[in-house]
Amino acid sequence: MKKIQMVDLQSQYEQIKDEINRGIQAVIDSSVFVKGGTVLDFQHHLEQYLGVRNVIPVGNGTDALLISLMVLDLKKGDEVILPSFTFVAAAEVVALLGLTPVFVDVEPDTFCISPSAVEKAITSRTKVIMPVHLFGQNAEMESILQIAKSHKIYVVEDACQSIGAEYLFSDGRRIKSGCMGTVGCTSFFPSKNLGCFGDGGAVFTNDDALADEIRCIANHGMRVRYHHDRIGVNSRLDAIQAAVLDVKLNYLDSYIRSRQAAAAYYDSVFSSCELVAVPAQNPHSTHVYHQYTLKLDESVDRDLLRLKLEEKGIPTMIYYPIPLHLQKAYCNGQYKVGDFPVAEQLAKTVISLPMHTELDEGQLQYIAESVVSLVKTCKK
Ligand SMILES: *Cc1c(COP(=O)(O)O)cnc(C)c1O
Repeated sequence: MKKIQMVDLQSQYEQIKDEINRGIQAVIDSSVFVKGGTVLDFQHHLEQYLGVRNVIPVGNGTDALLISLMVLDLKKGDEVILPSFTFVAAAEVVALLGLTPVFVDVEPDTFCISPSAVEKAITSRTKVIMPVHLFGQNAEMESILQIAKSHKIYVVEDACQSIGAEYLFSDGRRIKSGCMGTVGCTSFFPSKNLGCFGDGGAVFTNDDALADEIRCIANHGMRVRYHHDRIGVNSRLDAIQAAVLDVKLNYLDSYIRSRQAAAAYYDSVFSSCELVAVPAQNPHSTHVYHQYTLKLDESVDRDLLRLKLEEKGIPTMIYYPIPLHLQKAYCNGQYKVGDFPVAEQLAKTVISLPMHTELDEGQLQYIAESVVSLVKTCKK
């Protein structure tokens, strides 16, 4: 059996090597490494795929989040509501801009931000809600958008893990992840569902005026060369990354189907195991399984299970071991253990299994059966 990895980028590359290499070589031959046609082509193809008016390619997902907040012209001390159980990037950019991160708890089943918790956290200073579409499925956006509308606040979606996932609105509309709020952000980090060969990211918006400002911010606050209208940053997707992404975008839907098939297999094996809970699916969202994350029964010694799986050649990861409200850099003496019980419980009990586009049946069976048999031997 092929070595099992959390993410197998090498095997994925082997499948499309010629196309990718041709794309990269064309960029080198053109010597247009920054901006230019390759980046524009990818931008337009992604706009078509997502059904969104504007994609603005930037340097990475964290920059996408940063620029999305910069464009909203917020003031120091304005509050941004975001989930405690997520990757740090969203909180980081909020804090960097002198805004106040206001953490809230997540849903115990989908791990995404809880709309009722958002509603309770709103104050007169709340300006933005940042839902994170964690592990590949959309947060409960219909409720979040309604709350935002009634309080006249912005929604900045962190779709770094959920590109291609669809949200199903009650009126029948299906909208792609990151294209529902004021702006949406994604990352093309290599291990993401649409990953390049380095760093990359993008901002999405249906608001043309906002898109124009976002492009300006990402380019040193400049529209006309050396005329700086506002304080900006330097954040761009380079042409080699765009060439890779433009090839991989054609395969994104098939990659999503591979991930869904792997998840369905895991689900079927784990359904009879009482000690693990399979990832719940929000009925209003498709799931693109950036991660396949189990919740272990409280009686299971997670560290021991990870060790035993590792001994069998099965890597696992903990996304995320410490909720943001308990992180040294973000707790501000303001938050304490017990504030967000769901996030805290998840941090102690989740475990992510290998999930990528190249898992074969033998590997899936080996992983799933190993988890089922070992978890019983890992009681605390
Ligand atoms: C990966 C990720 C980011 C950051 O993306 P980078 O491209 O690494 O800057 C932000 N938020 C979430 C949820 C992510 O998974």
